[in-house]
Amino acid sequence: MYSTEQKQYFSEKLLSWYRRHKRDLPWRRSRNPYHIWISEIMLQQTRVETVIPYFHRFVDKFPTVEALAEAPEDEVLKAWEGLGYYSRARNLQSAVREVQERYGGVVPDTKEEVFALKGVGPYTAGAILSIAYNKPEPAVDGNVMRVLSRYFLIEEDIMKGSTRVLMEKLAKELIPEGAAGDFNQGLMELGAMVCTPKSPHCLTCPVMLHCSGRAAGMEAELPVKKKAKPPRPESRYVALLEGTGGQAGRVLIRQRPAEGLLARMWELPHALAPGTGTDGRDTAQGPDPAPAHEALAEHLDADGLGLGELRWFMPAEHTFSHIHWELDVFLGTVDNPSLLPESSAPLPSHYRWITREEMEQYAFPNVFLRILKAYFKEREGAS
Ligand code: SF4
Repeated sequence: MYSTEQKQYFSEKLLSWYRRHKRDLPWRRSRNPYHIWISEIMLQQTRVETVIPYFHRFVDKFPTVEALAEAPEDEVLKAWEGLGYYSRARNLQSAVREVQERYGGVVPDTKEEVFALKGVGPYTAGAILSIAYNKPEPAVDGNVMRVLSRYFLIEEDIMKGSTRVLMEKLAKELIPEGAAGDFNQGLMELGAMVCTPKSPHCLTCPVMLHCSGRAAGMEAELPVKKKAKPPRPESRYVALLEGTGGQAGRVLIRQRPAEGLLARMWELPHALAPGTGTDGRDTAQGPDPAPAHEALAEHLDADGLGLGELRWFMPAEHTFSHIHWELDVFLGTVDNPSLLPESSAPLPSHYRWITREEMEQYAFPNVFLRILKAYFKEREGAS
């Protein structure tokens, strides 16, 4: 389908370009499959510059398969805090535990075994096998599909499974003998540094001479990608419940359920804003505490917590891949004395009263971390 000359040119030029121009990234300094695995999971949906400090901290804290396998999940989530997509961290740890138990702590080197690990898709499996073990397996992600779409002028929708299959076959054919790791990294590097999503730098591109997309003047239109559905907006009320009396300065947090969105992360109690459902924020109600009180009181009641008065604190928002949260945050107190921080009565087991310092011990999704930081900053300013 594509000429041998065009393919050979691409493989040779890309490989020599990568070997001369590759960035010095921490996970490129060794072929440790465990480290490469961590870096690939962290790099999903996250920029290289963001990942670098997380990668250093994570491998310092959990330097081996065994260390990560044995670590408490809370510590792993805490080390991941701020990177988002927390299921990646949970799946990584489950898979690492499997590697520890089943393979004695050595990351396997066959496609079947690596692919069977939790959270490891075809791209990550290909990246681990090629980079760590130099196996001729393709590692095709959005970046790579963009480069191949342009160079070979492929006008298929890259969101379709059949296009991915085609790209994987092509990417495998392109791998030069004995150089799978460098070649795959070269493809990723070209996509990240030269054949960028907007305004590709064709004039400095090592494969421009035979790039069909560029020759056809189509580089800006490729790849073809059907738009994904935008995230569904959802309005929520958040309760920032303050401790009182001798325990002033503490706030109430709770742990999310073990399954579903942000499983087992810590958060502030929140409830869906009534009447807005999934159709978006009811701006007419704005920060009026009355409907917020009603929704939150009903919600907290299920956990045996009574709610005192509320007053508006701040707005916040957060976008997940499929939901966009628009949050109205209210300050308030718990009104059942038995559950106040100074009481010895136990809170429901998934709730905690915490201070500013204790915040560090819990893993929060970014949006709640921002709210808590804003709250404690304001308190410190006021005192
Ligand atoms: S010439 Fe331009 S469009 Fe073609 S691969 Fe290079 S950067 Fe991408």
